[in-house]
Amino acid sequence: MPIKTIIEPFRIKSVEPIRRTTRRERQKLLVAAGYNLFLVASDDILIDLLTDSGTNAMSTEQWAAMMRGDESYAGSPSFQRFRKSIQAIMGFKHVIPTHQGRAAERILFGVMCKKGDVVPNNTHFDTTRANCEFVGAEALDIPIAEARQPQTRHPFKGNMDTAKLAAVIERVGAKRVPLVMLTVTNNSGGGQPVSLENIKAVKKICARHKIPLYIDACRFAENAYFIKLREPGYSKKSPREIAQEMFRYADGCTMSAKKDGLANIGGFLCTNNDLIAQQEKDLLILTEGFPTYGGLAGRDLDAIAVGLNEALDEDYLNYRIVSTAYLGDHISAGGVPIVQPPGGHAIYIDAREFLPHIPPTQFPGVALAAELYVEGGIRSVEIGTLMFGKRDDKGVEHPGPMDLLRLAIPRRVYTQSHIDYVVEVILEVWRRRKGIRGLELTYQAPFLRHFTARFRTAPQHKAKS
Ligand SMILES: *Cc1c(COP(=O)(O)O)cnc(C)c1O
Repeated sequence: MPIKTIIEPFRIKSVEPIRRTTRRERQKLLVAAGYNLFLVASDDILIDLLTDSGTNAMSTEQWAAMMRGDESYAGSPSFQRFRKSIQAIMGFKHVIPTHQGRAAERILFGVMCKKGDVVPNNTHFDTTRANCEFVGAEALDIPIAEARQPQTRHPFKGNMDTAKLAAVIERVGAKRVPLVMLTVTNNSGGGQPVSLENIKAVKKICARHKIPLYIDACRFAENAYFIKLREPGYSKKSPREIAQEMFRYADGCTMSAKKDGLANIGGFLCTNNDLIAQQEKDLLILTEGFPTYGGLAGRDLDAIAVGLNEALDEDYLNYRIVSTAYLGDHISAGGVPIVQPPGGHAIYIDAREFLPHIPPTQFPGVALAAELYVEGGIRSVEIGTLMFGKRDDKGVEHPGPMDLLRLAIPRRVYTQSHIDYVVEVILEVWRRRKGIRGLELTYQAPFLRHFTARFRTAPQHKAKS
């Protein structure tokens, strides 16, 4: 019989101890942090699932490449390797390094967009939306309808609604749409993939109106592997060939190397347009640095050059997608409501459904995050009313569209027994869910309140009889 067990495709050469705390310590730490896990020191966290961004473990080859990093101000060979590695996968003419993804976004929108423009995307990531709105353009999210239904399964839930795209361009006129973006995988939509069929259909509409298509490429390798697994005709192709095909339909991309670059910092911006590249490089010099380093050390460029290729390794991607689904499938089998099917980089628990006795105005996602911390020292993040809701001038809280709790999995960091532990903790909290209380805000900042908000437990909600 063929062996079915999937193992972590690496062995561990350097270890980082994690610190255990007692339940009592965690209760105190939580109250001191105002029930906001962003305000807890990472030393006091056992398993940190706050984000998959920049939390990757680098390989021996990446560390070796870092030693080869050349720190020359101009014309560094590290940049040559960086560009070569990106061009071999993505094929774009111009490659502009940046210190992370949002810097690429700021430069892209600064050059391409102006007040009154509309930028359609399947779903803008929050920094993408902020940078688009900062130049006065409208960031329009048009995912397919299934994307907004947590329990509905769809193989490519990250797809863009192409009928809506065509209608929007028709309505506002192509002149007001300077670019269309596709986020692969769709991070804010649950890490759900976009199919090649959808990429082609979007490109066709863009081409008809001469609008460039840009890919937000942060999780391009995970997206390519989902295409291999799920899209007819691609099962025999390598993730690399699929990624190359994805980028063939695009005119440029933005990238955060903190995701599928398997690095801890970095990003880049690509385009095929000479004129736009020149303007982007001019802006780059203003805030990031010379075009052969763009705010990064030469050694970072080398780490990314290697990481992009490792992210396309089929054994790695299989482990990655299987281990994320492992967490989702095991808690789902225990009854926990999650966004289905599991995405590439994270599992999203439907906190509103998990804690139906806590009204959205009492932040069920934040309350659940707090319980996972107290129970097992796990850090997750609310994607719901705290992040997307609003408190009006009268102090009335308006809930976000959903209350989700995201458990993001850092790449190559945790082993299966860590994840087994996470499953056990979540199922324990699930068993005692009826006793969990809601929260009320005691402090909020005027914008991006989720980073610094503080809470206390809300008065017991009286059950209607
Ligand atoms: C992380 C991310 C970004 C922004 O990248 P940073 O490196 O964090 O600035 C943009 N888009 C998506 C989809 C992301 O996940």
